[in-house]
Amino acid sequence: MKRSARITVHPEALQHNLKRAKECAPDSKVFSVIKANAYGHNSVATAGILYPDTDAFAVSCVPEAVVLREGGIDLPIKILQGYQNNDDLNIAADLNLRLMVHEERQLTLLDQYSKKHKFDITLKVDSGMHRLGFQPERIHELFTKLKNHPQVNPDNLMLATHFSSADEPDKSTTQDQISTFNKACEGINAPKSLSNSASVLVWKDAHADWVRPGIMLYGSSPFTDKDRDSFDLQAAMTFEAPVISVHDLKKGDCIGYSATWQCPKDMQVAVIACGYADGYPRHAASGTPVWINGKTTELLGRVAMDMIVVNADDHKENPIKVGDWAELWGKNLSVDTVAEKAETIPYEILCNAGNLRGA
Ligand SMILES: *Cc1c(COP(=O)(O)O)cnc(C)c1O
Repeated sequence: MKRSARITVHPEALQHNLKRAKECAPDSKVFSVIKANAYGHNSVATAGILYPDTDAFAVSCVPEAVVLREGGIDLPIKILQGYQNNDDLNIAADLNLRLMVHEERQLTLLDQYSKKHKFDITLKVDSGMHRLGFQPERIHELFTKLKNHPQVNPDNLMLATHFSSADEPDKSTTQDQISTFNKACEGINAPKSLSNSASVLVWKDAHADWVRPGIMLYGSSPFTDKDRDSFDLQAAMTFEAPVISVHDLKKGDCIGYSATWQCPKDMQVAVIACGYADGYPRHAASGTPVWINGKTTELLGRVAMDMIVVNADDHKENPIKVGDWAELWGKNLSVDTVAEKAETIPYEILCNAGNLRGA
């Protein structure tokens, strides 16, 4: 979509953040998670940037992996949701994709597969998130079945699980999930993978053979109470839009749809050409920071489809003019702060803006 707002992806930040993941989990290999078009950062471009330093990539579904292979990415690619039908298996065989197996019907599809191919399979254990995976008691039986399956490459058979609450280190949930997973896999000699970004950063016991960092690669902290600087992460995306009007309002004037914000005094405001159609979160509250001309100001009133209004009153030293560019998030203003003000998570904002704007 062609619009005024623009996105810049910072390659050196992506490389730096991957280096940080490797420093945190020095003995593990890395699946760089680039699903959802690399959280809005463009999956082929991101894969190209991370390529020299990552061991492999992970995406959600087969079509996402097709885009990467068409883009020339030849490293291993893991499909976190596995396959849904025979076509997915055919593509996976052609493109040499690694497949997650998490439910019964996938096993049947594998049993019935008629072409000769040995798939790289990861068996998913439901250690307590209760989204995808087999129950822990079944893991030994299923692992043995897959190890001896004519359509499975026994050398690349792996075990994995996913955490529900790795970003809440004070809860016992993650420790319980680690124990459940370890118990389910006891005595099985195969590479294991448990950790998302939050776990890479704080759950050392769960690093195992392969880690799966996502959000941290994009410079965002998975923890609400710790910012990106506390983990030395750098913003990989800057989202900017131009100022299209600056004008003076009187005390008592109301701003925007539903007139939710009223000027407490005579004041100057600026209108920025960016709204929810660009992926700026509609639920960002008045007071959400916006960076412009070297300092932060605040959003006033409702976010509209194509515009937001900000306070221009405190910019006396470096007045805001039509044509200036505002940073909605990026190097100067963390997307985590914006997400919090919009009562959402940075994952959603990055995906929406990046994919609407076409990073
Ligand atoms: C998305 C995803 C990840 C990456 O999670 P982050 O919180 O972004 O690090 C890891 N593993 C699985 C199974 C996922 O779906």
